[in-house]
Amino acid sequence: MAQKFRALLDLCKRRGFLYQSAEIYGGLRGAYDYGPLGVELKKNIQQSWWRHHVYYRDDVVGLDTSIITPHPVLKASGHVDEFSDLLVDCMLTKERFRPDKAPELHITDSKVLVQAPDKSTAKLWQQHITEQLAPGIKTILDGKKIWLPLISFTSPSHGQPGSIVFAMNNNDTTSPLSLPYHGYVEPDSLSPFLTPSRPFNLMFKTFLDPIDPVERIIQTTQQHNNDNSQQTVREAVDQVLRPSTVYLRPETAQGVFINFEQVTRTMKLKPPFGIAQVGKSFRNEIRLEHGIFRTPEFEQMELEYFVSPWTASHWFNYWRKLRYDWWLTHACHPEDFRQRDHEKDEMAHYATGCTDVEFKYPWGWGEIEGVAHRGDYDLTQHMKNTGANFEVTTTAEDLPQEEEEEALDKNKNKKYVPHVIESSCGLNRAMLAYLCDAFHQVPDPDNDKLPPRNIMKLHPQLAPIKCAVMPLTGKPEFLPIVQKVAQSIRQRGWNTMVESQKLKIGKRYYRHDEIGTPWCVTVDYQSLEDDTVTIRDRDSGEQRRLPWKDVSRYMEQHLY
Ligand code: ATP
Repeated sequence: MAQKFRALLDLCKRRGFLYQSAEIYGGLRGAYDYGPLGVELKKNIQQSWWRHHVYYRDDVVGLDTSIITPHPVLKASGHVDEFSDLLVDCMLTKERFRPDKAPELHITDSKVLVQAPDKSTAKLWQQHITEQLAPGIKTILDGKKIWLPLISFTSPSHGQPGSIVFAMNNNDTTSPLSLPYHGYVEPDSLSPFLTPSRPFNLMFKTFLDPIDPVERIIQTTQQHNNDNSQQTVREAVDQVLRPSTVYLRPETAQGVFINFEQVTRTMKLKPPFGIAQVGKSFRNEIRLEHGIFRTPEFEQMELEYFVSPWTASHWFNYWRKLRYDWWLTHACHPEDFRQRDHEKDEMAHYATGCTDVEFKYPWGWGEIEGVAHRGDYDLTQHMKNTGANFEVTTTAEDLPQEEEEEALDKNKNKKYVPHVIESSCGLNRAMLAYLCDAFHQVPDPDNDKLPPRNIMKLHPQLAPIKCAVMPLTGKPEFLPIVQKVAQSIRQRGWNTMVESQKLKIGKRYYRHDEIGTPWCVTVDYQSLEDDTVTIRDRDSGEQRRLPWKDVSRYMEQHLY
């Protein structure tokens, strides 16, 4: 599995899906650039999402709001005070990680295992443990592994930490050394030598100010030292910087909520209706992991659907199903996509329900989308903080068909703040999921001693190049028909490519199988006589002949 995933990452780099950002400067950790094929795949996923949720419906409109967000908006939404993850540092490896995603302690034969990346690091770590972190404990060095024998171990329970009691070098059982155990260890090394956890706000803060904020901090600090102020330096600095403080948005949703009144007024909308937005969000993640799965800069496709309180659970179920079905529309392996309901303690404090869509990545199940019932929390918070009025009056459309008469009677002309059902999915995670789902390796049909062949069985709607048009050989007489076919496809708005590399036709087919091109059209000698071409299907390898003028119609039938 790991080997196959490495082959996929290699393909992404080699064929222009994904590059390390600023690679010629040594790269920037967690930052990626999308190459010519990656940008098409990402755009196609986004377009499918937009088509299904905006163009195919008459109750959803689009919006594109600012990334730079003023402090009061995110203060009201709770992000300034609450949008934190817990952060823990490992005192042995100096790694920083999120405890909620970290593994549990690994015990084998009453010994804890700590794994170093190589033998020399293992030696250094052993010394650091026995001299500083846990002086006098027994350790066994075994290549890259360090074993720590235990006297006893208890798990955390009812909010109280457990303990790890180590055996001592001198076999002293009267004063053994123990560590508190909170239910996790450092993910890479499995080290239990950890600092207490502390909250860490994930937002990128910056300042909209022509004066360098560092200058302001220096001035304020100097002034503070001369004044006999009651304020702490921190408070004084915060006060000076507050008016210019802005954040890179951590989700696109708040831009939708603060525009609620403008959109309803200008578009004459009443619940139930939705606002869709696709755009970049930013989170200063404690730990970046699995390539584009978790990055500080990422794109979200979010839909906020506004409904009456008495229909909210109906719509929550509706969107859970609809969103899950969308994922399956493009999947080769539907069994690798699942829904998981959140436990009560996993949900944001305002949410009354949340269901994640998860994909089985090569390292395990990972979230790709959250569908949440956010109640009226967001709109109410922005009303409280601005004086805006987001209340609406009941209409017949507020009610699900089956309950219409009874519920309408009960709630006639009632004013209410709409409740929100949110679907929030990561575009970059979607791209990674669909790449993993589509990536197949098959034995080379000509020689099974050669490495396997790659086929990217992307859904045609997602494929970066819809069709490659090829002259059989480099002879110029094929080119007029090649150009006519390519033009007929381009006119439909589909990305096509004339593939005239001087390679055998089979090799050219294979180059396109690898990047997911669903069809290859070949112009050959017969084409010159009767205006027909062959069209080859990526997944079955089957070829059929058809007039070149029918190629785009054939593709349309298989695309939608
Ligand atoms: P996680 O638990 O994985 O951190 P989350 O629950 O914080 O995710 P949400 O706030 O629900 O994520 O965001 C909605 C979606 O945005 C996620 O399902 C995911 O697809 C995407 N997303 C969130 N954070 C990141 C990130 N750092 N990098 C890439 N995509 C992300």
